Amino acid sequence: MRTPLMAVVKADGYGHGLVEAGRAAREGGAEWLGVASADEALALRAAGDTGRLLAWLIMPSEPAEELIAADIDVTAYTIADLEKFAAAGDALGSIPRVQLKIDTGLSRGGSSFAEWTNMVARARILEAEGAIRVTGIWSHFASSEDPDDPANESQEKVFAEALAIAADAGLRPEVRHLANSAGALLRPGARFDLVRVGIATYGIDPAPGVGGSPWPELGLVPAMTVRAELAMVKQIEAGAGVSYNHTWVAEEPTTVGVVPAGYAEGIQRSAGNRAEVWVDGARRPVRGTVCMDQVVIDLGSDEVEPGSEVVLWGTGADGEPTAQDWAEASGTIAYEVVTRIGGRMKRRHVDTEQEGADR
Ligand SMILES: *Cc1c(COP(=O)(O)O)cnc(C)c1O
Repeated sequence: MRTPLMAVVKADGYGHGLVEAGRAAREGGAEWLGVASADEALALRAAGDTGRLLAWLIMPSEPAEELIAADIDVTAYTIADLEKFAAAGDALGSIPRVQLKIDTGLSRGGSSFAEWTNMVARARILEAEGAIRVTGIWSHFASSEDPDDPANESQEKVFAEALAIAADAGLRPEVRHLANSAGALLRPGARFDLVRVGIATYGIDPAPGVGGSPWPELGLVPAMTVRAELAMVKQIEAGAGVSYNHTWVAEEPTTVGVVPAGYAEGIQRSAGNRAEVWVDGARRPVRGTVCMDQVVIDLGSDEVEPGSEVVLWGTGADGEPTAQDWAEASGTIAYEVVTRIGGRMKRRHVDTEQEGADR
């Protein structure tokens, strides 16, 4: 049986568009959507999403009434959160759906294990009073993309203990969940009742270089392609320094092209002299520093027309670089590459399953 899926669409759908990513995930059968902030959850509701939706980073200063009235499952990290949600439910005359997060070793959000017994006891009392309903208990992995990290095993064990304590207290949550993309793929035992899948739903390998990835059996195809138009093309002489601080100097005469996208668009500045783009059927190296709005590329001796299409990253199917290639070139992860893209870029959503879709 397929494990139910929560598509994680936080951070503007990992840079792909919150509402569009949410809509595509629902069409693809996602039972749940997951977001970090209250604003993200409310934006999905404002756009018409009516399905199950979990938010997990609600600020102490943020009122919960609007979230609860919008039928959003909210996450409690502390007893103070529980009281706040119960009070909001009371004011509204409705029963908030609350999920409890246990910190099993990430040391980020969630109840510490030491607090957990008190937390579930209070949650159970509030539930018995009809002040809240505990719909879920969950946690988050620290190193799921590294199957050899003993933290995975240890976190699963702590999660099982936390679930047992909650069950002893009388809680019967609808969903217990632990795994993100890499956890869901690499640790089937960690799937429980629901998996929270972010990066893999955008077609990006969550564990590059691990376990036979890029997962040919899954057929992950990156959803995002970043294109630009070549702003100009020109010859430079041997000895010419390129871009700020001349971190690259032409050893021989060459043709360079100007790509109108820079770090203001979220192009990693650290990719200067390292990344490649795709122009006219070939990979072309980035030369020199990435500027605020421009990148210079080396076209060698090829004659390329200004106005030609530049693919910064895409599916990789034709040989073009991928977000993962950019991540490796800039010392980061593909998550950061795709979530940062923006600035003056225009976003267009294409349904590639539609016949004749323009890819
Ligand atoms: C971002 C996030 C996810 C999704 O992680 P991926 O590695 O992108 O699948 C799942 N759960 C939580 C709590 C998150 O913050």
